[in-house]
Amino acid sequence: MLIGNFFDLEFKLLDKPLPCDAEACPCDENEVWPEGNSKEDTLVNLEDISIERKKNIIIDWDEERAKNALLNDNEYNSKKVVLNSSSKTIFIQASGPCNSNCAFCSRGSDYEIFNLEVHRRRFENKLYPFISKAERLIFTGSGEFLLLPEAEEILDFFDNGFPHVEKIFSTNGSPLTPRICEKIVNSESKYTIHISLHASNSTLHRVLTRTDNFHKIIGQLEYLLDLNRDTGNPEVFLIFVATTLNIEDLPDFVRLAHQLSVDGVICYYNYIYIPTQKYLSCFFKQELTNKMFNETKEIARRLNIKVDLPPRFGLKEYPNLGICREPWSQIMFTTQGHVLPCDASEDCHESLENKHFMDVWNGEYYQNLRRSLIEGKASCFKHCFRANPSSVNDFSSHVIHRGGRKDIDILWGDNF
Ligand code: SF4
Repeated sequence: MLIGNFFDLEFKLLDKPLPCDAEACPCDENEVWPEGNSKEDTLVNLEDISIERKKNIIIDWDEERAKNALLNDNEYNSKKVVLNSSSKTIFIQASGPCNSNCAFCSRGSDYEIFNLEVHRRRFENKLYPFISKAERLIFTGSGEFLLLPEAEEILDFFDNGFPHVEKIFSTNGSPLTPRICEKIVNSESKYTIHISLHASNSTLHRVLTRTDNFHKIIGQLEYLLDLNRDTGNPEVFLIFVATTLNIEDLPDFVRLAHQLSVDGVICYYNYIYIPTQKYLSCFFKQELTNKMFNETKEIARRLNIKVDLPPRFGLKEYPNLGICREPWSQIMFTTQGHVLPCDASEDCHESLENKHFMDVWNGEYYQNLRRSLIEGKASCFKHCFRANPSSVNDFSSHVIHRGGRKDIDILWGDNF
C-alpha cells in the first residue's frame, strides 16, 4: 500500500518517503494516469491535481520534450532515415465551418468538421502521447476552427492535457471574441495566432474574402493585443496571402501591422488548388511582385517589424537552404488520420488508421522521402520554393498537384 511521497520537488526519488499530503500521490500511477492507463496511453487531467504536483508533472514532460527535440536535431544532422525521435511539430486537421469565401481558398466542398469526441476515440492512444513529446501542436484545416461549437472545449482540453506544448492556429479574426481572447491570454499554454487578414483596408478585404467584417476584426484584434501586452502571450502574426489582387497593398499591410503592434507579418504566395485560381498567382506579375517585396522590406526595416517574405522572381542567385527539414521534424494528420509531411507535398498514402505512430513516421513513404531529399532526388523538392527558393520561377511550384489533377499546371500564360 502507498503510504508516502517518494519524490522531492525535482521529481527525484528519495531514499525515505515523506509524509504524503498530496491530493494524488505521484507514487500511484493509477491516480495520476486515470483509469489505470500509463502516461503513454492517455491524457492526464491536470485540473484535478494540486498545483505543486502539476508543476512537477509539467517539468517532467518538458524534459522529455527537450530530450526528443535534441535527439531529433542530432538525427537530422546525421542524416538518419529511420528515427528514434518523434516529430517536433504535429499538425492536426481541425476544420470548422467557414464564414468567408476567400478567392484563394483551398477548401473542397466536402470536408469533415472536427469533433473532439470522435478524434479522441480514433487517435487518443496512438497520437496523443506523441503530442506530449512535441514542441508545438498546430490546428490546421479548412474553415474556422474557432467557429466550431465546441471550440472552447477543444482549447481547454488541449491546454489542460498539454500545457507544455505550444499551440498555433489560424483564424480570419472574426470569431476572436473577447471571451476567446481572455481564455487564450489566461491559459497555461503558449499560443501563437495567425490572423489571415490579407488586406490593409475594408474594401480590398471585402474583395478577397467576400465578407464585410474588416473593422470588427481590427477591433477584436486590438482588444486581444491590449490583453497580451504584459505577457506577450499569444504571439500574433498577420498573414498576407499574396495574389495579383492584393500584392500592391503589402507595404500598407505592414504599416497596419506596425500600428497594431503585432509580432510580425508572414506573407505567402497563394497556391493554385483549382484551375480558376490561376489568375491570382503572382507568377503572372513577377516584376510588380519583386518591386512590392523590395518596398515592403525597406518599410519593415524602417519600422523595425518582422516580415517574412517568399522568394522573389528571376534572381541571379538563390540561397541553398540544404536538406529540407520538414520530413524530419513535422507531420500532419487529417481528421481521418491520413498523413501529409507538409502542405506542399505530393500524395502520401500513409495513415494512422491501421498503424502505430512510429510505423507511419518511419514507414516506407517517410524513409523514401528522407532518403531522396538527402540524395537530392526528391521530386517534391524540384517544385518547392520553401525548400528550394529558385523553383519560384517554375509555374509548377505554384500549383498543388495532390489528388491526381493532370490539367492543373497547364500554364495558361495567354490569359495574361
Ligand atoms: S521539399 Fe518542400 S514539398 Fe518536399 S517535403 Fe520539403 S517542404 Fe515539403
